Amino acid sequence: MNFGMRPEYQNLLDRVTAMIRDEVMPLEAEYHAEVATGDRWTYTARQTEILESLKTKAKAAGLWNFWLTDSDKGFGLTTVEYAHFAEQMGKTPLGAEVFNCSAPDTGNMEVFERYGTQALKDKWLAPLLEGQIRSAYLMTEPDVASSDATNIRMACVRDGDDYVLNGEKWWASGAGDPRCKVYIVMVKTGGDDLPKHKRQSMIVVDAATPGIDILRPMQVYGHDDAPHGHMHIRFTDVRVPAENLLLGEGRGFEIAQGRLGPGRIHHCMRAIGQAESALELMCRRSLQREAFGKQLAALGANYDIIAECRMEIEMARLLCLKAAWYMDQGDKRAAAPWISQIKVIAPRVALKVIDEAVQMHGGQGISQDTPLALAWTHVRTLRLADGPDAVHRRQVARAELRQYTQEKV
Ligand SMILES: Cc1cc2nc3c(=O)[nH]c(=O)nc-3n(C[C@H](O)[C@H](O)[C@H](O)COP(=O)(O)OP(=O)(O)OC[C@H]3O[C@@H](n4cnc5c(N)ncnc54)[C@H](O)[C@@H]3O)c2cc1C
Repeated sequence: MNFGMRPEYQNLLDRVTAMIRDEVMPLEAEYHAEVATGDRWTYTARQTEILESLKTKAKAAGLWNFWLTDSDKGFGLTTVEYAHFAEQMGKTPLGAEVFNCSAPDTGNMEVFERYGTQALKDKWLAPLLEGQIRSAYLMTEPDVASSDATNIRMACVRDGDDYVLNGEKWWASGAGDPRCKVYIVMVKTGGDDLPKHKRQSMIVVDAATPGIDILRPMQVYGHDDAPHGHMHIRFTDVRVPAENLLLGEGRGFEIAQGRLGPGRIHHCMRAIGQAESALELMCRRSLQREAFGKQLAALGANYDIIAECRMEIEMARLLCLKAAWYMDQGDKRAAAPWISQIKVIAPRVALKVIDEAVQMHGGQGISQDTPLALAWTHVRTLRLADGPDAVHRRQVARAELRQYTQEKV
């Protein structure tokens, strides 16, 4: 097992790390202050300037679109190699977008790349690869338990050259962004006579199609996450050209599995990056501030807390790289329980580290004056998004038990 980086890519990673530290992080506070001014769902001139100037710089430096792993296009990074990039990009909320590596676009671009027709690639993949537009992935529905995707029931009925969509989706991350122009939507095309994993399909929908109403942004612990947003959307008689259905009716699960596997590893490595940032803040704070005549670091159990955080981050990173390594072996079924393990562990560890960092900052820790409070709410959502913990633990237990149920006696 090799968890390292081929030498030719180490230099790229070093440049990404330096750009995040020296150019992206110093602009983060100003960027977020801009979001708070005026209409939160549009970009101010300064917000656009910050984001676009960083993107232009990254692109010109060749630091762009690292995410397309297992492909002869792009850099051809392995999942293990890309995981190291994702960790660095996770250190700051703007990190991934600066290098055109943000969710849900990366997963959606993979879907276009692997399953889209040439016409769909020309219309949507090309501007996504250039970072000119953004996209959203609409699977979850308010009325059904969506952690079991066989429940997805948005109606998608063939009518002449179109499909007609009716129903509601929510938690559509990124759909609040004015630059979000396209959705990949999971719909129900097959009846109960079909096997349950053959009833759903994926269809590409132009976000400007008549009949689409954005009802509201869902809030995460009171935050609307503008201008990205997690939107609740209603579809009423939305007509979509039949050629936008990916791969054919009933192939939705196949596409969802291809999309979510690498995406989960990326999320986890970004969470580990957030944990690293939090640990750094915690250590700096514990050395700078004094109480009861000593540095905070030297008080109570603070050495132990710092040590536990370091050890847990290291364990989580190794587990994530192991899951990435399994992905790189090409057997998705073998990789699945490892991805499930890290999908539970990475947010758990990151939440613990961020929470300890909050504690070390006292009242300031839960305020707007450090990135910690927002980081905690963001990582907390990862215990739900892309599958709740319980669903992943079930996968892990089933894989564990399978060894014994398949034993010949
Ligand atoms: C911030 C955020 C962003 C998101 N972004 C997107 C997005 O971009 N696109 C999208 O489609 N969705 C998105 N989601 C939705 C997310 O993927 C779903 O919330 C998740 O899949 C769970 O579905 P559900 O909310 O319907 O919960 P349910 O399916 O109703 O599950 C609720 C709870 O039931 C329990 N449960 C379920 N199954 C089991 C089991 N097998 N064993 C034990 N207990 C179980 C768990 O405790 C689980 O948390 C996002 C969610 C959040 C919070």
